[in-house]
This record gives sequence, C-alpha cells and structure tokens, in this order.
Amino acid sequence: MLASLSADGEVQNYVDGSWQKPAGRDSQPVTNPATGERLATIPFSDATDLDAAVDAANEAYNDWRNTAVEDRIQPLFRLKSLLEEHIGELAELLVREHGKTRAEARGELRRGIENVEVACGMPRLQQAGTLANAAPDIDESAVREPLGTFVGITPFNFPAMISLWFLPHAVASGNAFILKPSEQDPLVTQRIFELVDQAGFPDGVVQLLNGGPDTVNEILAHPGIVGVSFVGSTPVARHIYETAAANGKRVQAQGGAKNHVIVTESTDLSYAAEKTVSSACACAGERCLSNDVVVVEDSVYDAFADEMVAKMRDQTVGYGLDDGVDIGAIISADHEETIRRYIQSGVDEGAKLLVDGRDVAVDGYEDGNFVGPSLFGEVSPEMTIVREEHFGPIVGLVRVEDFDEAVDVVNRSDFGNAASLFTDSGHKASRFKCEVEAGNLGVNVGTAAPMAFFAFGGRKDSFFGDLHAQGSDLVNFYTDKMSYIERWPDQS
Ligand code: NAD
Repeated sequence: MLASLSADGEVQNYVDGSWQKPAGRDSQPVTNPATGERLATIPFSDATDLDAAVDAANEAYNDWRNTAVEDRIQPLFRLKSLLEEHIGELAELLVREHGKTRAEARGELRRGIENVEVACGMPRLQQAGTLANAAPDIDESAVREPLGTFVGITPFNFPAMISLWFLPHAVASGNAFILKPSEQDPLVTQRIFELVDQAGFPDGVVQLLNGGPDTVNEILAHPGIVGVSFVGSTPVARHIYETAAANGKRVQAQGGAKNHVIVTESTDLSYAAEKTVSSACACAGERCLSNDVVVVEDSVYDAFADEMVAKMRDQTVGYGLDDGVDIGAIISADHEETIRRYIQSGVDEGAKLLVDGRDVAVDGYEDGNFVGPSLFGEVSPEMTIVREEHFGPIVGLVRVEDFDEAVDVVNRSDFGNAASLFTDSGHKASRFKCEVEAGNLGVNVGTAAPMAFFAFGGRKDSFFGDLHAQGSDLVNFYTDKMSYIERWPDQS
C-alpha cells in the first residue's frame, strides 16, 4: 500500500532520514471504518525509539538553526508542490483510514497546504525589530531565535491538516520537529512523510514517531525536548499542559469543544439552517468546530426547527469514496457506540427527538461504523448533549426568549472554541463579538475556521496555554525573543 510500510504491513517511524520499525511491544490495527478492512498495523514506539529521534533532532538542530532562513524554506516550497501533486491520492488514503468524504479530505489537505504556504514567509515572519538611538548613542534590536526540538502530538479527526499546522512553522523558524500522530489513522501522515523525505530536509530536522499514550508520556518527560504542541480532547490537553509545563517545556494544548450557534429573528432561516447542518454533519460531526447546539429566539424557533428537520433528513450517509455522500463513517466502533449513547441520553433527559439517526443502514457496508444525523428540539442547557462533547452528527435546539438569554446560554458552556451568529442586525453582531466567550467567532458563517495566517483561537476548557496554533502566534511559540543593546564609542 505505502512503500514505507514494513514488509509485514507495519507503520514505521521516520528517524534521522530513514524508515525504522518502532521497537515497542504494543500495537493496534489500522482499519477502514466504512468497510472493516484491515489496512495496516501500527506498532508503538518505546523510550529507545524516542531517545534515537531526540538525539538525531538535537544533532540536526545545531546546523539547522544556523542555516540561512532562505535555505530553510526551500524544502517547504518543494513539500507544498509535492502535496499538491499528490492531493488526490492523499485524499483517498485519508478517506480509507478515517471515514470522511473525499471532498472533506481534499478540503482538509488544502487547509494543511495553506499552513506550508504561510511558513514559507518566515524570512519576514521571523523579523523582530530594530531601533536606532533607542537611548543616547545606543541602538537596540531584537531577534527571534529558535529553541531546539519541538514535538507535535495530534488527534485523529484531522490527521493531515493538524500535522501541517505545526511542522512547517517549527522548522522554518530553525527548530527540529518530531511528529507523534494519532494512532487511529497514521497512514496519511506516513505518506506525507514520504513526501517530506523527497522534499530534501537534512536528516533529523523533521521526524515521525508513532505511538500511543505511553509514547506521549515519555515525550512529556524527555529532557531533550523544549516544547510541545498538542491538539486533542480536553482531559488529555489538560494533562499535557500540566505535565509538560512541570517538566520545564513550552506548551500549547488545544482541547475539545461545544460550539453554539445563535439564530436571531432577523435572519434568513433557510440559509442559517443550511450552514448549521453542514457544520454539524461534516466529517460525521467529528470536528472541533462542529456547531452542534443552536440557540434560537422564540419568535422564529418553530420555523427554524422545520428548516432543520428537512435539511437533516436530506443528508446521505455512506462510504466517503462513493459519490453523493454527505456523512461518512465514524472512526471506530467504540466511538459509534459513544455517539449512540449520547443520543439515548437526550431521549432519557426529555429532549424531543425530531430526527433519529440510529436506524441508518448503508447497503454494501454492513461492517462499517455509521450513525445518521440526529436532531433534538426543546433541549435545555443542562442536558448532557449540550454540556459534553459527543463528537457525532447530533444537533440540539435550545429555545430562548431573546438575545440576552441566548448569549447567557452560550457563555454557560465550559468550552470556548467557536460560536456563530446568524442575524441581519449589526447591533447584535457587535454585541456578539464583544460578549461571547469563544476564541473563533463567525457572523453569518457556519464554521468559524480561521485561515492559516490567523491564529486558531480557543478559550476556557478548549485551550490551555497562551499562544495558539497558526499565524504569528506559532512564530512566537517556536522562537524566543532576544534583545541586543549596542554602543560603539569613537575610539580613534
Ligand atoms: P485524544 O485526546 O484521544 O488523542 C489526541 C492525542 O493524544 C493522540 O495522539 C493520542 O495518542 C494522545 N493521547 C490519547 N490519550 C492520551 C493519554 N491518556 N495520555 C497521553 N496521550 C494521550 O483526541 P482524539 O480523540 O484523537 O481527537 C478528538 C479530540 O480532539 C476532540 O476532543 C476534538 O475536539 C479535539 N480537537 C480539538 C481541536 C482544536 O483546535 N481545539 C482540533 C481538532 C480536534
């Protein structure tokens, strides 16, 4: 399947410029979630694999940090071209191991490539400022210096894009970088690393280390690593933040989410429903920006609920490689079971099930993990499906009296990743931007996903740290500012 898999179909590490079999004893299968077909086996790395990767990274860093920035970005330009050349094949692999649709996979890759493009601007991004005559006869300047070896630890839901959030900026700014991708869908990352290999980075600058939670905990304790970029669920993000910081590392940790939408009386209800359904059902709801709680002003609640029912029923569930599919497979049978439990919790807690996604059957894919779209009406903010991240295609509608109550419901959430507002009122839009406590805000936009040149926000239990992913935040995260203060008296 992939040239870099071992002869017995195992995922490998990419360490010091070559493919190596992880030495750990644990492993797990990589399975196509739509068909049940076993695609590969992923062995987990142990402490000896990690030591080898960190040694190679720190060795490579000594030269790489002193390599001209113009030369550091050349492999990234080549990587961008290679990713574009292979985007169709990468998207197909992503569908096969993750379950999302082909269009979603291409969109994810495009978003990842955007981050490579932005990092190619490092000659400008890394500049820090100079001031002549900052004090009498004194010039001052600042530089942003790289720091050493960073590790990126990524989740299953966007295995290609999130790996590419971190790798390009880390290495373009002069660091060495090790990626520990999700063990649930490691193949697309392995294929990207075949392209990294072709792009011509010096050995050890960019490495791939496969593994699970134990590998992560070894990373957090390793003295040769200066910082960690993490994306995943909230309990793990909190653990990463606390442990990495306690071990003296820089850390940015993005966690889970519940993203609310407010629908006001002055809006196009059909448009708001279309954008909400697409946000909530894309990638089968396995998205940290999925808008899955909709807070609706009472005067338009019934009409909006009708629009939502029609549009949710219109979603087609199936294999992501087949045409006309809106909702692909769920990553694992366990996660499918979790989503089904959340639907049952909505029923048990008294919400009104308007569309029930539990009875879905996909002809020809009887071994796949599928759940159809589910819509609940008359949901209250205390219910489990509003408070907890279910990571499935489930939407709950909350009825509120007015805009004040809507903002209150949104801000009661423990999470603060994203929120959207649908309105024709400029006044409500400005209040939304000032009053709602979330890091990515959309107005008349279904999914508030910032482009690669803006930081990807997140607050409360959705983010631990201060500098976010993407944009100038990442440049600051991967570098340290140093100031030079110079005086050159006349010695003649
Ligand atoms: P996860 O937390 O289970 O796993 C993420 C990574 O952490 C993986 O690489 C995994 O190997 C590792 N890990 C898992 N358990 C661990 C443990 N106990 N100790 C140490 N490491 C551990 O997350 P997931 O299920 O792969 O991804 C889905 C989650 O990611 C959702 O909560 C989603 O909201 C979140 N996410 C957040 C963002 C964001 O920008 N805020 C973006 C994408 C996904």
